[in-house]
Amino acid sequence: MAQTTPNHTQTVSGWAAHDSSGKITPFIFKRRENGINDVTIEVLYCGICHTDLHHVRNDWGITMYPVVPGHEITGVITKVGSNVKEFKVGDRVGVGCLAATCLECDFCKDSQENYCDQVQFTYNGIFWDGSITYGGYSKMLVADHRYVVHIPANLPLDATAPLLCAGVTVFSPMKDHNLHQAPGKKIGVVGLGGLGHVAVKFGKAFGHHVTVISTSPSKEKEAKERLGADDFLVSTDAQQLKKGMRTLDFILNTVSAKHSLGPLLELLKVNGTMVVVGAPDQPFELPSFPMIFGKRAVKGSVIGGMRDTKEMMELCGKHNITCDIEVTTPHKLDAALDRVAKNDVRYRFVIDITAGLPSNL
Ligand SMILES: [Zn+2]
Ligand SMILES: [Zn+2]
Repeated sequence: MAQTTPNHTQTVSGWAAHDSSGKITPFIFKRRENGINDVTIEVLYCGICHTDLHHVRNDWGITMYPVVPGHEITGVITKVGSNVKEFKVGDRVGVGCLAATCLECDFCKDSQENYCDQVQFTYNGIFWDGSITYGGYSKMLVADHRYVVHIPANLPLDATAPLLCAGVTVFSPMKDHNLHQAPGKKIGVVGLGGLGHVAVKFGKAFGHHVTVISTSPSKEKEAKERLGADDFLVSTDAQQLKKGMRTLDFILNTVSAKHSLGPLLELLKVNGTMVVVGAPDQPFELPSFPMIFGKRAVKGSVIGGMRDTKEMMELCGKHNITCDIEVTTPHKLDAALDRVAKNDVRYRFVIDITAGLPSNL
């Protein structure tokens, strides 16, 4: 177990929801002292993920209030524990969803910490000392260095923040299918939101032919002209889907609304794979014929381990990939979350944590 520092002595100001109304208000709380394996980070930016919204409103019935959300965190290191060699004060770093894992299981040993069955998340988790974890909607974070990554010097901290969750969520399954180093494949991205728009950027940077599949014909121009997609299919247009049958090697499905996977599976070549990273409340419709007659597979994937996160960050630095964001401020969080609920953001809100804050907090 990684527990080293039970002492929660540091006062931090942040923003929390206190009940299922989801209303966010300023919140003063304590964090642990910087332990030997920890780094302390001055949080500068934090992305707003859909998961944050689910937690503040207790959509999944698992929220421990008060909840300080935020797991797309970027900032600068202000303190380093004695066991920490790869970070120093002043480094620009990021923290995603992982706060602690067992470090001993097969998944942890293989840097697939995200599949550790004792994983504790950056917020609404229970740390080894029994404390509830608080996320990045706050001015300061103490993080175990094993779950912290460097941010390449050429990437801005605001537009990089969503890579820590949205980015690695789409990168990890692409890497799993070797798409990061075997160009020339035909890949489909279903849904053009926070996850989908990064997947399109990765697909193009890695040298693939990318087709965006969406219910909204209005997104075609944006997908092709701004994000560089090669093709666009309207998923409600039977003619278009028919034309696209058996054309794709791989599909990444980012949609979190209930839909049938059948028509999408028909777009895959024989032996193709669809990876699901969106999480609808209701089960997918999954007809068997498109799977059986095309020897097609459907699988899932959740965020990514630390090796994948580091590799993604390096590739983003090399290809200059960041998220398309709208910057907001802590006192506009309620309005921002309302817009996230309506998918009314292109493509991710990022909170400028230091905007409008009194300097003594
Ligand atoms: Zn997230
Ligand atoms: Zn483990």
